[in-house]
Amino acid sequence: MKNRELKVKPIQNGTVIDHIKSGKALDVYNILKIPDDLPVMLAMNVPSKKMGKKDILKIEGLELGSDDVNKIALIAPDATINIIRNGEVVEKFKVNIPDYIEGLLKCTNPNCITNRENVEGKFVIESKNPLKIRCKYCEKFLSAIIYDGSPP
Ligand SMILES: [Zn+2]
Repeated sequence: MKNRELKVKPIQNGTVIDHIKSGKALDVYNILKIPDDLPVMLAMNVPSKKMGKKDILKIEGLELGSDDVNKIALIAPDATINIIRNGEVVEKFKVNIPDYIEGLLKCTNPNCITNRENVEGKFVIESKNPLKIRCKYCEKFLSAIIYDGSPP
């Protein structure tokens, strides 16, 4: 069989996240907060005609909704989502960077109220390409994408 070693075991019911930028699959996994007991398959640096190399994440037993997957658009803007039922793709869609984000990210301004007090961040996406995100509290653009709950 050709390319046997590159084949990733198909899943029966769940979600396949394809076209993740190479090296970003673990970040995607962490952001989605997938329950610990679900089987997850991770394929990294898979050759791709479109992207050169890509990562793929397969989650058995969980169908992600568009709200979930739009969170990952910030780090995997080209990702495509395949919903699988009984081994067949029943739905396929691209991730979309949302216009507005609550929680999820941390403001990079150390003087921002969200960092001085325990206030949940709110962010407005001013531009998607290049990605420009503004904090609603201090009005500053974020200098990096830091997910809330990431180690400091
Ligand atoms: Zn701020």
